[in-house]
Amino acid sequence: CGIVGYVGHANGRVNAGHNALDVVLEGLRRLEYRGYDSAGIAVVADGSISSRKKSGKLANLTAALEADPLPASLTGIGHTRWATHGGPTDQNAHPHLADGGKLAVIHNGIIENFAELKLELLRKGVTFASETDTEVAAALLGDIYREQLGGDPSRGGLTKAMQLACQRLEGAFTLLAVHADQPDVVVAARRNSPLVVGLGEGENFLGSDVSGFIDYTRRAVELGQDQIVTISADAVEITDFYGAPAEGKEYHVNWDP
Ligand code: GLU
Repeated sequence: CGIVGYVGHANGRVNAGHNALDVVLEGLRRLEYRGYDSAGIAVVADGSISSRKKSGKLANLTAALEADPLPASLTGIGHTRWATHGGPTDQNAHPHLADGGKLAVIHNGIIENFAELKLELLRKGVTFASETDTEVAAALLGDIYREQLGGDPSRGGLTKAMQLACQRLEGAFTLLAVHADQPDVVVAARRNSPLVVGLGEGENFLGSDVSGFIDYTRRAVELGQDQIVTISADAVEITDFYGAPAEGKEYHVNWDP
């Protein structure tokens, strides 16, 4: 329901050195007005994904994070969930992991054809930990990355895997993904569901709306229908679902939250 993504820069940059966890939690707080029943976060640090998720209010997640902190990181994603497929439990909260825990995915919306995709993946031996449509998208993405692209970032990596996955997904979705093999990017996609990029200096942001990053930048790029964006600290690259370069609509946010 609420989505935030962040990639920052290691050192020497204006506004640099933000901890992904803090930026993402602040964004989720700003998005609370949307309503939600669970919250979760994933960061990429030390070559692996670390995540926490909890049903209930954001306070439940922050309590869990205090009890069991996440490592400092420059790359992270966070989600507040409005359950549509599977009840509001810890298990069903996002992020959902795939590719042996190396991939984390969050999602707003509904994957209409999740049942047939799930059957296909189950037949291949993929196992599931939740009842959500989202985990099916995560598993599909992981399967494509591993099987079709050989788990090799030089063959297009997460961005290419997201393009191929989106060609198979039906419904309404904003998806954000991070992978341990590519610790300095967040890849996102949208169809029939909103997604905005926030342009920083030495850092970039993603949000389901600009509230997700309004404390950090007012330069926004609204993604068009059926687009994929890959953000790193220094770059924002947009394509369509088939890899052709595309452009979003840049604007200045001139209201206060
Ligand atoms: N359909 C997904 C789920 O139930 C995402 C719901 C949402 O937009 O928060 O987990």
